[in-house]
Formats: sequence, C-alpha cells, structure tokens
Amino acid sequence: MKFGTKALHAGISPDPSTGAIMTPIFQTSTYVQEAPGVHKGYEYARTQNPTRNVLEHNLAALENGKFGRCFSSGMSATETVLKILKPGDEVISTSDLYGGSYRLFTKVFSKFGIKFIFVDMKDSSNVEKVITDKSKLIWIETPTNPMMKIIDIKEIAEIGRLRNIITAVDNTFASPYLQNPLDLGADVVMHSVTKFIAGHSDVVMGFLGTNDPSLDEDFGFIQKSSGAIPGPQDCFLTLRGIKTLHVRMQRHCENGEVVANYLRNHPNVEKVFWPGFEDHPNHEVAKKQMKGFGGMISFIQKEDTLEQAKETLSRFKIFSLAESLGGVESLVGHPASMTHASVPKEQRLKVGLKDSLIRLSVGIEDVVDLINDLEGALR
Ligand code: PLP
Repeated sequence: MKFGTKALHAGISPDPSTGAIMTPIFQTSTYVQEAPGVHKGYEYARTQNPTRNVLEHNLAALENGKFGRCFSSGMSATETVLKILKPGDEVISTSDLYGGSYRLFTKVFSKFGIKFIFVDMKDSSNVEKVITDKSKLIWIETPTNPMMKIIDIKEIAEIGRLRNIITAVDNTFASPYLQNPLDLGADVVMHSVTKFIAGHSDVVMGFLGTNDPSLDEDFGFIQKSSGAIPGPQDCFLTLRGIKTLHVRMQRHCENGEVVANYLRNHPNVEKVFWPGFEDHPNHEVAKKQMKGFGGMISFIQKEDTLEQAKETLSRFKIFSLAESLGGVESLVGHPASMTHASVPKEQRLKVGLKDSLIRLSVGIEDVVDLINDLEGALR
C-alpha cells in the first residue's frame, strides 16, 4: 500500500458492533470481565484502549514499523527511550536539537547518572570519535530544530549497529510522509505527534515506533508502568488528522519552497536555513533520505539584532507568534526566547542559534497571502 492509502486505512476497520466507519472514542477507564482473567483482551485503560491501539497500528504502518506506542506527549515518548538506560550509560546526541529534549537530557536524566555528549552530527565521523564502551544510545534529530541541519541517518545508524548502540531518530520535523528512519536502519523512530501528524494544533501526543520486539516490549512495559498515555479523544482527533497527512505535507512542501526562495531573495534577509537549497551543506543527504524538504524555515535578517527580530515579529498578520509547528496554520517563532530558552546562550551560539533567528512553520494557506504577510513584516 502507498502512503496515502495507508494513512486512511492501515490498522483501521469499521467498528464490528455498529459498522461505524470512524474509530469510536472508547472513553472508559476499565472493562468488565466475565470472570477473573476472562475478558476480551482489555483489562484497564492505562494498558489498553481500542482507540489508542488503532492509532498505534496506523502510525507504526506509516513508519514501516512492526510496533508502535503512543504517549501523552513527545517528551514522554523521548523519556520512555531514556528509561531503558541505566546509571553510567552514555548517550550521544545531536548538538542542535529541540530545547525541551536538551532540558530533559541535561536537567532530568543526567541527575540519574546518565551522561549526555552533544556532537555536531552533520559530519558522521564526529559520532565515532566520542563512542566509548558505555555508549548505549545515539539520539538524532533531523532536520534539526531550529538550524535545519541534516544528519545522515543511514550512516549513523550503521555506526551504531556495528557497535551495538541503539539509534533513535526524532522524526518530528520531517513527519513520516517525508522520512522513514526505520527504513534507513534506525532502531527507534520518535515523533511529537502534536506537530505534523495530528496537524491541527489541538492535540499534544508522542509516538515511538520500532521493528525490534524486545525494544517494543520495553516501551510497552514503561508505558504501562509510568502511565504517560494519551486519552482516547486525542487518539480519535489524531486518527482524523492523519487522514490528510499526505495532502497537508505536499502543501507544506510547496508553500515552504516558495517562502524559502522569497526570503532568500529579500534585500533585508542575510541567511535562510532550509534543506531544499542546493547549497545547503547537507542538501545531497536530504535529497537521499527525504521525499521533500518541508515547510520549516529559519532565517536571520541583515540587521542581525534582537530588537530588529522583535520588531519584525510584531508585524506579522497571518503567521501567528506561537510555540509549536506543523499545524495547518502558519506560525512564526523566536527560538532564543521561546522553544530554546532552556538551552544556555553559549550552547545556542555554538550551534549557530543567534538571538535574532526567526523560525517559520509554513502552513497550508494560499501562499500568495503568506508572501504578502512576509513582505509587510520585513519591510
Ligand atoms: N521534538 C521536537 C523536534 C519538537 O519540536 C518538540 C516540540 O516542539 C518535541 C520533540 C516535544 O514534543 P511535545 O511538545 O509533543 O512534548
């Protein structure tokens, strides 16, 4: 089955009791048993919920994975991967990554004796240089948030495989439509479902997919033990959102390309970060591992000051100033003070994240209106 057909049908069948074509919202915390241990496969909703199970099957299919688990947020999905580690273990992570992941790594899990080493993975050999016999997990984010660096998943997953290190990829920026890390050799794919997958800025959720039964068992054990599960209503909304994922992503990519090129030719713009440009440092890798380049774009203006960035941000009329990304509506953000405020300034500057950087999540509106909005904001 091709992606669009899977988005609508994988793991989904009409409700057996009514024929309802839409998966029902099973808003229940428990299930009645005929006798102790005699039940229909459902005991308690932290462990199993039919609406969630359908979504997990559907998302696993979209990532070409055998197994999938949904969590109450992207961060709880990330945390689940970290919880398979033990004190003394080392994690090698992309240096340019979502601020909340950086905070979870350095402020929460480092307290439990897990060591995090941040490297620029744009050059895969940087990963090899820091591997020790304690390295247990490689954490990749690509495209990176917010510098849009591209990391070669296949090359790094192979480095991990040869040394028995698990490779996990935060695939949030690409979505399963544009990139499938498991096909490239990664052991785990993670999503903030909140973003492109749910797609309508009305759900917070996370996902982990894998082809490895023992990893899935670990994730399931942590899911039921820690209990960070999404509610059935959110699972329903996400299933509904996924039905248009492929169509939305096509439009995000088309609009993204127009906006990226417009910004690049604007006299007030100094630099635009978007993997679709032929002179993007890892454009060839992006072309190889992604189906399109998406609608996430960052830029700095010629007048590279925080004041100028703030002034520009205040002039947008259609792009809304907000955290998050991947919804149908266009958003504009200021990473240094919003999504990446928890990353220390020296670390931000090390990866090139200046205080003046502006990030766009280009939505699916008519692109001419988006260009007019940018024209007004950058005047
Ligand atoms: N990963 C990336 C790349 C993100 O951008 C985000 C949120 O912005 C997350 C993970 C965290 O996801 P959530 O907000 O669903 O917990």
